[in-house]
This record gives sequence, C-alpha cells and structure tokens, in this order.
Amino acid sequence: MEAIYLDHNSTTPVLPEVAAAMRPFGSDAFANPASAHQFGRRARQALETARETVAQLLGAEPDEVLFTSGATEGNNLAVFGLAGNPPGVILSSPIEHPSVAEPVAQLAKRGFQVSYLAVSGEGVVLHDSGEALSWSPSSRRDPSLTTLMLANNETGAIQPVAELARCAEGLFHCDAVQAVGKIPVHFHQLGVASLSLSAHKFNGPRGIGALLLRKGARLHPLFWGGHQQRGWRPGTEPVALALGLATALRIAHVEMDQRTRKVIDLRQRFLNWLRQHAEPIVLNGPAVDGLPHTINVSFPGCRAETLLMKLDLAGVACSTGSACSSGSLLPSPVLRAMGCPPEVLHSAIRFSLSHLNTEAEVELAAERISAAVRQLRQQETQACVQDEK
Ligand code: PMP
Repeated sequence: MEAIYLDHNSTTPVLPEVAAAMRPFGSDAFANPASAHQFGRRARQALETARETVAQLLGAEPDEVLFTSGATEGNNLAVFGLAGNPPGVILSSPIEHPSVAEPVAQLAKRGFQVSYLAVSGEGVVLHDSGEALSWSPSSRRDPSLTTLMLANNETGAIQPVAELARCAEGLFHCDAVQAVGKIPVHFHQLGVASLSLSAHKFNGPRGIGALLLRKGARLHPLFWGGHQQRGWRPGTEPVALALGLATALRIAHVEMDQRTRKVIDLRQRFLNWLRQHAEPIVLNGPAVDGLPHTINVSFPGCRAETLLMKLDLAGVACSTGSACSSGSLLPSPVLRAMGCPPEVLHSAIRFSLSHLNTEAEVELAAERISAAVRQLRQQETQACVQDEK
C-alpha cells in the first residue's frame, strides 16, 4: 500500500531543480565565501546572487537579507535581538509558533510585560476594534516589540500584519514561514522591521532560512565571533543551501498561481469526500481566504491521537498540530485561542496539501480517512454500550 504524504506544513520534499542548483556548491565550488582567493570569490558571488534573488522576490534590499539556519533561529534572533532590555512591553498573539511563543515567554521571565491580541473563532487576530489594541489597559505603554505571524501553520488563517504594523508603535516582527512561497509577500509593503522564512517549507533544503531586517533596525546578535553578515549572524555561510533556498523561492514564485489553483481544486475534492463519507466534520480556520493547502478538520467522536495512529497504518501521513509534551498530547493552543469546544479540540487533525499531490492521491487519502473515522466512531459507540451494561 502506497503511503500518501499530507504533511507539507511540517516540511516539503526538495525539488530536483533545487538539488541540481545546489550540487556544484557542495562539491567543486565548496570554498568559504569569506576567502579572498578565486575559489572563495566564486562562492561569494553565488552567495550574493542568492541574496539578491531572495531580496528581489520578497520586496527587500539585498543587504536586508540575513541567512540563518531556519526560522527557529530567525524568530529567536528577531525576538531577543529587537526587544532591547527590560522593562518594556511585548505585544504578541496566542497563535504564534513555539519558536516565537517561547522566546516571548523567556522575555516575560526577564521582566518584560507581555500582552496578547485577541483571536476570532476562525483563527484571525482581531485588529479593527479598539479593544483588540487595548493590549495594556493598566499601563498604556507602547510595546517595544510586536510579533505576529503572517499565516498560521495549523489553520492556514492569514493575519492582518500590514494593518497592525501600520498602527503599532515600536518594532514589528513577522514570522512569515507558512506564507512565503505560497502567497505574494512584500517585505517593505508589510511595513515590518523583520520577517523570518524557512526554505524547507517551499521545496527548498532543510537547514537554511532567512531573516529580513529593515535597514536601520537595531538588532543585538545572538551569536558572537565572526564578521560575516555584518556581525548580525556570524558564521561561515552555507553557499549551497542559500542557492537552494533562492532557487526554490524563484520556482515557487514563477509557479505560484498555477500551484494555488491546483491546491484549491485538491482541497475541494478532499473536503467534498469527507463531507459525504465522514460527517459530522468541523473545519477549523477560515472558511474562505485562508491558505488553501492547510486543512484543519475535527472529527467529533474520535480521539485525534488514536486517529493519527490509525491513519499512519492506513497510509496517510498527517499531523495533529498539538504540542507533544512529555509523551502526552496537549490540545492545540491555537485551537484553544479560537475558543473551540473540547470535542473539536480533541479530535482535530491537520492535513497539509501541496501542488505535488495528485487528485487520485487526495481522493484515496480522503477515502482512507473516512473509513478510519467511521471505524473509530463505531468502536467508541460499542465501548459506550459496554459501559452502560
Ligand atoms: N514558524 C512557523 C509558523 C512554522 O510553521 C515553523 C515550522 N514548523 C517554524 C516557524 C520553524 O521553522 P524551522 O523548523 O524551519 O526552524
């Protein structure tokens, strides 16, 4: 039985064109881009070309692009590096990825006051009401840093970053990991001070990302000990990975409309099948205007973790999106912030599609999921009958 991969928000396969672009810089053109000799100069040229490509595709200047090891590093660098020293106020949201949420929690321990924006039932941060922005009613102090993601990894909900950045005081960091390569992202038009991305979310290699940093923004580095990337992110730059990132991003932009159309069609087929064969289902997240490849569905009557194991055995790879802590699955903080009732919280599964999935795959996956859901619900009902006896 062939397994079907529906977990593209976790990571995506590297495209053959991307691997081909990286290959020479992993072997023949391996040199350190800081070296002054001709080998080094060639590596430097490739690195700077990659930087220019990323800048041009995302509406930034080349010297605003810092290569990092991924978005976890980019988010840590932005949150710790831009917040300054306590006391200060950090404004964030309850739907951030742990690579933002946990650094923010660390800042709270160091003496920053942290406030959180409210979230709608569809998982979108509220920005148009006075209450939503009255983040600090007692102190009324302006935040030194606001951090809000552009698209949520669990629900696909797109957040009003540009609207909030326009009225926010202080610096603004945006985790754009799930949006870059899927929807147009323009760094300067968003009006943020920094923006993080990770190549492996758009068919680039794992182990490289970037932090876009607005000219003039004061950033305190996390690492010390080298002059690379103007000391903000020292360390020998991985030229092959940077080229992989730039190539994957370029292809994602060239194919963006076509990929989106395909994924919208796949999503429709998938949901239609589930609605016909696995009712009742609850769609968590925006009904329209979210990222189409992210489908968060609850199957009342099923435990998410049991269903997930059953689906793995049935050949469907997906995820719960829940935080796994010391072996126990906790309900997703994102769905909790959206006010989902317990039955919905505990039966939520995230399926994330890609343009690489086929119609046949998506329909077969939906068939396998529906069968597993019906079986689990039947087992639950039988268990209840046994209990009553
Ligand atoms: N932010 C978001 C929204 C993500 O989905 C992820 C990856 N799951 C990250 C940050 C972290 O990215 P990486 O694992 O590449 O460091």
